[in-house]
Amino acid sequence: MSPETKPDFLISPEGLRVDGRRPDELRPVELKVGVLKQADGSASIRQGKTYIIAAVYGPRELHPRHLTLNDRAYLRVEYRMATFSVPDRKRPAPSRREKEISMVIANALKPALFLEEFPKAVVDVFIQVIQADGGTRCAAINAASLALADAGIPMRSLIPAVAVGKADGQLIVDLGDEEDKYGQGDVPMAIIPTTEELTLLQQDGSFNREELQEAMQMGINACKYLHELQKESLRRAYVKKSPEDMDDEDDDEDDDDFDDDMETDLGEAELMEDE
Ligand code: UDP
Repeated sequence: MSPETKPDFLISPEGLRVDGRRPDELRPVELKVGVLKQADGSASIRQGKTYIIAAVYGPRELHPRHLTLNDRAYLRVEYRMATFSVPDRKRPAPSRREKEISMVIANALKPALFLEEFPKAVVDVFIQVIQADGGTRCAAINAASLALADAGIPMRSLIPAVAVGKADGQLIVDLGDEEDKYGQGDVPMAIIPTTEELTLLQQDGSFNREELQEAMQMGINACKYLHELQKESLRRAYVKKSPEDMDDEDDDEDDDDFDDDMETDLGEAELMEDE
């Protein structure tokens, strides 16, 4: 067992959180596309200390055949935590929690995908949590959506996701592990950013109507910001791969600017126009 004690407060008298963030501030987010050689599409996400890799294979022939859907591809999501991803060793056998989260992630991603273009096939999404520090289901959606785009699966939009919660009576965005464990509740959500259609909405803990409405607006704002980071990471991966840019290897120094940690302060986010 790892020694862990409940912090005296989750929100300081100055209004800051245990890691110094403001209530509406996300953890630093680093997204990378095309991180695996074997997969048709892949992506990784570091969100604070949470670290996840997603790999997509397909569309490909579905086994076992009895799962076949005649009018669309089957989206098969497998969310797993590495044995070493949490302080207490995670048993390697798939847990009920992992099965439930796999289903929830599939349901969050499906509305964005044109699965009807690949009847009878399967699109496999493997999600491996390397390090869990809260918010793994939402971080997994952020990475899996990018991995699906990297695999060339036709989609309406990328899907960003974030959890909004409550600690010491204050609504907070993107909960870390302590906030998740000792806070008063959390609301993981995912959206299609253009329409603000919710594709994931769960609730743990109690929120009154006003709190829930405010929490959802905070979540939508954070998701829109994460969507910009997702698009930026795709551009970074593909701009480098285009032939013109291969010719311009000398200009790679400029690309290094992209590698700088992205500003995750919602207040200072420079949002780009949708193309
Ligand atoms: N966790 C753990 N062992 C497990 C499963 C979860 O220690 O077998 C921890 C882990 O730190 C994870 C956190 O519990 O990030 C929160 O899990 P939850 O089910 O709320 O999902 P999440 O917030 O990660 O989406």
